[in-house]
Amino acid sequence: MKFTDLGLSDELLRAVHEAGYEEPTPIQEKAIPVVMMGRDVLGCAQTGTGKTASFTLPMIDILAAGRAKARMPRSLILEPTRELAAQVADNFEVYGKYHKLSKALLIGGSSMEEQLKVLNRGVDVLIATPGRLLDVFDRGHLLMNDVKVLVIDEADRMLDMGFIPDVEKIVSLLSPMRTTLLFSATMPKEIRRLADKFLSNPKEISVSPPASTADTIAQGLVKLKSAGRAPGAAQKVKREALRKLIRDHQDTLTNALVFCNRKRDVDVVYRSLERHGFSAARLHGDMVQSVRTDTLDKFKKNEVKILVCSDVAARGLDISTVSHVFNFDVPTHAEDYVHRIGRTGRAGRKGNSFTLMMPEEKKYLDGIERLIGKPIPVLEDGGTPPSDTSEKEEKAEEKPKRGRSRGGKPKSDAKPKSEEAPAGDTKKDSSEDNSRKKPAPKKAAGSGRKPAQKDNRKNKDDDGAFGEHTPAFLKKEVPLGKR
Ligand code: AMP
Repeated sequence: MKFTDLGLSDELLRAVHEAGYEEPTPIQEKAIPVVMMGRDVLGCAQTGTGKTASFTLPMIDILAAGRAKARMPRSLILEPTRELAAQVADNFEVYGKYHKLSKALLIGGSSMEEQLKVLNRGVDVLIATPGRLLDVFDRGHLLMNDVKVLVIDEADRMLDMGFIPDVEKIVSLLSPMRTTLLFSATMPKEIRRLADKFLSNPKEISVSPPASTADTIAQGLVKLKSAGRAPGAAQKVKREALRKLIRDHQDTLTNALVFCNRKRDVDVVYRSLERHGFSAARLHGDMVQSVRTDTLDKFKKNEVKILVCSDVAARGLDISTVSHVFNFDVPTHAEDYVHRIGRTGRAGRKGNSFTLMMPEEKKYLDGIERLIGKPIPVLEDGGTPPSDTSEKEEKAEEKPKRGRSRGGKPKSDAKPKSEEAPAGDTKKDSSEDNSRKKPAPKKAAGSGRKPAQKDNRKNKDDDGAFGEHTPAFLKKEVPLGKR
């Protein structure tokens, strides 16, 4: 099928052509004609399938006729994270370049005043995260009875993040005379129930079995041997294994995402990679929005090669050319595995994903393999101890931080409660409420060296690793092109 068969306007076809798309993806082929007819859609599609265009393209044509009134958006797109909302807004720019539609973003972490100004001028498309939207509504800045098209995107993510009550409240504020499109990568019972409640006689569209992984992604599992019970020992073994994996794949690795279950580990792994000379940055929900945006930008522009992140980056982020995804931890929620590895192998490209697993994480692996319906191939040399690190480096990495107990065996691996929450508990991690949290240290992206630390471990580490083992093209200072 061709784009010209979908009933889209000439202006849209021109924009799509200029975006470099040759033919519609399966979800676009199936969803666009249905949305154009004004019918509700329940779409089950994994990330990277072209899902965003499958609703933005018909919306642009539907909204082309008519004008928005102040504070009364004509369509509403709900997204679970700010990044996704911003990305959908970018999509409207690209596809809507020959239309005169206005749009507004209502997301946490950015100035509400600015957002309200745009809203007051009248918008055709409002893209929002649920919390900020309700906040603005409760303050009386928004009327929602003119919404003709509602998109609930990444519904299963909304569910995971605890946004469903907010979504239900928002839907109750809308006129029933609307088209509703609900997209979800997986279709758990709760989402189906929501669909029954919000959608009227929807066309069900599924472009791949729920929770399947793209065939273009080569998956691998690295089974690590138990590291004993010493605090931090498992993490140390994983950090070594990660470095070994990165180096082993340097021939094909152009850039990579490293997912950790805990925000605390995002920080530790990021610092460790930096110490070992890799071009790295970090991204998690406790960082202020401007730093998150800036970091993501640097990664997209290839100014940093390795982005260590929590599940805030797992869903929907359109970084089209990620060659490798590494799971530093086996995700505790099986669906997160699908989303994480879906960051590579997008839009038909080849991708690679590797998961590090300690014996105690086996139960999570079982859940993932049940969900994706196949075993993850085990790397043959996965169990061998990584060879790249000297004893000295390991000791240095193990050293406890200032403020924690020193010397002797710590009684427990006691850490602040908030840090202990697995990233699966992502309500905290990516909701707009994070803007009120303590910002992370300013230096997020891997530019330059960090100032020396009091316990001297950095110097030892760098001496042991930088230059000797780190592939040149992954080093901080060397642009990829010079590889
Ligand atoms: P999405 O699943 O919406 O996040 O889209 C994943 C990626 O596919 C994005 O980089 C889109 O720009 C790209 N894309 C969307 N539709 C097409 C298409 N018809 N042909 C090629 N690439 C596409």
